[in-house]
Amino acid sequence: MYPAQFEYHSPASVQEAISLLGRLKDDAKLLAGGHSLIPMMKLRLAQPKHVIDIRKIPGLSGIKEDGGAIAIGALTTHYAVESSSLLKQKCALLTETAGTIGDPQVRNMGTVGGSLAHADPAADYPAAAIALGAEVVAEGPKGKRTIKVDDFFKGLLTTALQPDEILVEIRIPSWPVGTGMAYMKFPHPASRFAVVGVAAVVTADGKKVGVGITGAGTKAVRAKGVEAALSGKTLDAAAIKAAAEARSPQQGFLANEFSWR
Ligand SMILES: Cc1cc2nc3c(=O)[nH]c(=O)nc-3n(C[C@H](O)[C@H](O)[C@H](O)COP(=O)(O)OP(=O)(O)OC[C@H]3O[C@@H](n4cnc5c(N)ncnc54)[C@H](O)[C@@H]3O)c2cc1C
Repeated sequence: MYPAQFEYHSPASVQEAISLLGRLKDDAKLLAGGHSLIPMMKLRLAQPKHVIDIRKIPGLSGIKEDGGAIAIGALTTHYAVESSSLLKQKCALLTETAGTIGDPQVRNMGTVGGSLAHADPAADYPAAAIALGAEVVAEGPKGKRTIKVDDFFKGLLTTALQPDEILVEIRIPSWPVGTGMAYMKFPHPASRFAVVGVAAVVTADGKKVGVGITGAGTKAVRAKGVEAALSGKTLDAAAIKAAAEARSPQQGFLANEFSWR
């Protein structure tokens, strides 16, 4: 399977990439790790006339603390997230989530920005990003803007990014010491994509709870009902069981959490 013919561009800066997007409009696609775009091009599900390879743009990868948040550059690979000592210490949910993605080849090539921008309904990061209350930084002709992750995923493979915007960074707010966080998924046996995946973040006092779900609809969603059932409760086994049972499919979970269906 070969992709349709395309013209290849390799901009040296974000501004150059943005001006290419502005000029080439719908005929162009950005290329990051290529682990979603290239398969789609080979299957001819995507046939961009121009491919804008952003991998040589400096400053778009890396993980650092910045103004009370953790900033992750768009081109940071899943492997870099999985192996980051900063994230292991301060946001283990992301290292855990990244470690479940695909196989070593996918994790070495695929990027955080590419995964979020692609908005695959079975991707893993969206659940974690929602649970953590992340923000996405987009850069376009008018400069940068920050989008709350709850406003970012719009539907199947659709985000709040404008056609001439590039996702440049994801920002994770800091959570108090002692916050518990975990990601569990039922992986597809072939691709390892999430048939369903759930990310949960709970502060030690139980006052702040974040729960994100992926794989169960056309986009990842915040499980608001589960969050409400857990917030402020003493998180013993009974409270957790009650929250889970109260939101089971038989008792209206789908109606409550997935009212967009
Ligand atoms: C065999 C296989 C198994 C996989 N398993 C999993 C899995 O278990 N879990 C999972 O979550 N994912 C999985 N993936 C997907 C993988 O994580 C991809 O890396 C990811 O979806 C896309 O990231 P990328 O960097 O490869 O983006 P690309 O493929 O380069 O781009 C994807 C899309 O996003 C756009 N884009 C890329 N970067 C940006 C940016 N910075 N700003 C704006 N738009 C951008 C591109 O134009 C394109 O439309 C798998 C992929 C493969 C091939």
